[in-house]
Formats: sequence, C-alpha cells, structure tokens
Amino acid sequence: MFIGIDDTDSERGLCTTYLAAVLMERLSPLGELVGYPKLIRLNPCARYKTRGNAAIALELKSDRIEDIREIALQTVLELSDFSGSNTNPGLVIASRKTPSMAAFYQRAVTRILEIEDARKLLDQEGIWHRGFKKGRGLIGALAAIGAVLPDYTYELIAYRERDRWGTPRSIDEATVWRADGLTYPRTWDTVDHHNGRMVFAPHSADPVLFGIRGSDPQAILEAFQAIKSEPIERKVLYQTNQGTDAHILEGTVADVRASESYRLRGFVAGQPQAIAGGHLFFPLQDGTGRVVCAAFEPTKNFRAIVKQLIIGDEIEVYGSVQESTLNLEKMRVLHLADKTEAFAPVCPQCNKRMKSAGKGQGYRCRSCKTHAEGLVCRIQKRELETGYYEVPPCARRHLSKPLVRMNGEKVHCSR
Ligand code: ATP
Repeated sequence: MFIGIDDTDSERGLCTTYLAAVLMERLSPLGELVGYPKLIRLNPCARYKTRGNAAIALELKSDRIEDIREIALQTVLELSDFSGSNTNPGLVIASRKTPSMAAFYQRAVTRILEIEDARKLLDQEGIWHRGFKKGRGLIGALAAIGAVLPDYTYELIAYRERDRWGTPRSIDEATVWRADGLTYPRTWDTVDHHNGRMVFAPHSADPVLFGIRGSDPQAILEAFQAIKSEPIERKVLYQTNQGTDAHILEGTVADVRASESYRLRGFVAGQPQAIAGGHLFFPLQDGTGRVVCAAFEPTKNFRAIVKQLIIGDEIEVYGSVQESTLNLEKMRVLHLADKTEAFAPVCPQCNKRMKSAGKGQGYRCRSCKTHAEGLVCRIQKRELETGYYEVPPCARRHLSKPLVRMNGEKVHCSR
C-alpha cells in the first residue's frame, strides 16, 4: 500500500519529513518498506507552502491495513502542529497507484490545484483519506503517492534530538567542507564555495539537523560519515524529485502564466538594469511576446553573469513566473550578439586619433589636414561565454536541476 502525508508543519516547528521518519519506525513491525521513501517537492509557487512545498510517500508491503491506518492516523495527530494557522494536514492511504494519480502529481508539480481537485480524484478512485482542518494537505499527500520519477536524486536527512529543537545547531563546519571535498560532484549543495557558507542546514526551529543531496547513496553516506555534529536522533535516505527540473514547463512567452515555471527561448531585448536592493531585470523577447526576467539580490554572484548580457543575445531562461516576472534559476547562453565599440578614426599620415570637425562634419586631423566621414566600429571581445549558468547553491530552488547534473553539456557550475 502507498501512504502519502503533507502539510503537518508550521513556521514554528515540526516537519512532515520528520513525521514520516517516525511513522516508518512505527510501521516497520507491520510490514516491509518497498524501495526508498519518497520526498516529493511540488509546485514551488504554491501559495500556502511553509518552506519548500514538500510531501512524503511511503510504499509498504503488508496486509494489516486497519492497523496501518490506525498508526498513521495517530502519528499525524501526535506530530502535526495543529495550532499553525496554515497547517491543514492530509493523510492518504491507497492500495495501488493509477495513471490518474500519476497525472495528478504532474499537475501538482507544475500547476496550482484546489483542495477540491484532490477530493474529487480521491472519491473517484475510492481511496482512503483523512483531511484535517481545511484538508489542503490532501493535494500534496495524493500527489506524492502518484509521483512517477523518470529522473531522481537522493537526500539524506538527519534529525535532531527533541530537547535540542529550537536551539542553535551544533555542526563542525570544517568537517562539512571536508565532506564536500570528498564527495562532490556525487553530492552537491552542501556548501557554497563562492559565498563561503554551509547551505545544507536550515536555521529554523524544525527537527532537521541537515540534509545531504546527491546522485549516489554511497557518496551521500560517505559525506554523512565525515561530518561531526551534535547527536543525531535518526536519519532517513529519501529518493526525491529534487534537482530534476520537474517543475519546468516548455513554452513560449505567450504561454506564460503566473505561479508556473518555464523554460523559454528568446533574445535579450533590453540592457539588464539594476534597481535599489541589487535586483536585476531585463526583457526577453520571442516570436510571441516579451517577458521581464529577474535575478534578485539573493542570487548573489549570478547577477554578475546576467549583467553581461546585451541586446540581441540569444538565450534560454529557466524560472518561475510571479507577478508577470520570470525569476531566473538558470540560463543557457546560445549565441552571443556582437558588441561593438565606436572610435574616432585614426589619421592615415600621423597615426593619431582625429578630432571631431563639428556636428555632422566628420573628423579631421588638425596637423595633417586629413579628413574622415564618421566613427570607426570595432567588435569587442565578450567576457561571457556560451553555455549554462546557474544561481549559486545558497539561492538554489529544491527542484532546480543543478548544472553538475547536466552531463554532456557546456556548463559553468556555481559551486
Ligand atoms: P515543509 O517543506 O516544511 O514540509 P511545505 O513548504 O511543504 O513545508 P506545507 O506545509 O506542506 O509546506 O504546505 C504546502 C501546501 O500546499 C500543502 O497543503 C499542499 O497540499 C499544498 N500544495 C502542494 N502543491 C500544490 C499545488 N500545486 N497547488 C496548490 N496547493 C498545493
């Protein structure tokens, strides 16, 4: 059977992945876990998310269905933060995974859904479920079960002892850098080299101590063993759609809708402009229209790349659309436009640069009395190269595919 859980935590504490980790322990005498537990990220633009719009699905081989429902229900009641104004837990237990459930996941990771959409499918398929308060968590719980992952990565999440929740995390930073050095590129986003900080540990009051992401469970375990920290209460290795671009829709500018994420191809139609706060904007044009692309201040060193774009550069952008602006997660520079510089011509006799002879009257050399009509244009070398560029690890969206995973492409990894 398949168990899906979502929306059990609040900004103040707890975490759906922790609840699932405890549930796995409680269910282990009743059946056998099939494969890895799944950590499924859904549409990053969903309005009511607490942090990263995560939901969990477990697959269990067991015929003790009543006992399992009872334990799952008790665990949700015990480990959800019902006081959170935005906490609306959902628990779904299904005996099979159908194509309609897979299609529901596909919509939940790319579009905005209503609670009714989930309830309708649950009723149609006769799936056992419990929604608490508004029951919004049913969307994520059902989508997580339905998730089909043509591409996937792993994350090991280590959880804190309960009496430490809400206190500063104690992690030996030097060992984290060492773990990264030992296992990158099979693990990623543990540290951000350019910005000189650890990025694998949250700062909130939840039970997560840290999470190690990677392509290879063995490398993740190696990194985990290298890290020294406060005691760990439990750890779980999840299979996940993180780092796969599952949220990205193919489209043209005319297709773009708010709260969805796209890959768009077009031309830079205006010089990138910075505004107060260090946010950077430029328009992208394709055959169907124009959209403003943004590299916000938290994308740090990525802005220095975006600043080098000029009108006419052909690029592909990846990002989420909010308030009609596409927030860049990465971009691919396909073709660089010629950047020209204009100079006063050089005198053919003395080799010195000529001076203007007056408005509309060309250029002249006073000493040699030579004359030339207009400015001379020279093509400047561009610092920017073709290939993929990405935001640094400190600004990475969970679902964004990091360039370290783009095998066979010309990439400029931000590390
Ligand atoms: P955490 O990452 O700490 O577990 P969270 O960021 O996952 O928290 P939730 O508390 O799970 O946030 O809240 C997200 C809510 O949005 C859930 O109720 C979930 O069912 C719902 N949701 C998920 N995907 C969509 C979607 N595509 N459209 C509308 N609602 C969605």
